Amino acid sequence: MSVTYNDVARVTREVDQVTCDLCGAEAARGNTWPVDSFAIDEITIMRKTGRSAGSFGEINEEKVDVCPDCWVSKVVPFFEGLGAKFRGEGVQW
Ligand SMILES: [Zn+2]
Repeated sequence: MSVTYNDVARVTREVDQVTCDLCGAEAARGNTWPVDSFAIDEITIMRKTGRSAGSFGEINEEKVDVCPDCWVSKVVPFFEGLGAKFRGEGVQW
């Protein structure tokens, strides 16, 4: 038995620049907000919907990007005003 392959061209996308959808601020390092290259601060509010059936599927993502200042001053108070409580989870390595 032998196997043959077809070359398949795929397009991948990576984030170049994140902009806050509330105030228009641009992330300092393209896809993350802190200037410190070891710090991580990424905020995306997202709904992911779709269907998956093995190797076939369809995913739709509705997203809003928010800067840290708007997260603290607008998003958290808004959700807490609706009765939500944010959960904190940490990971160390
Ligand atoms: Zn903002």
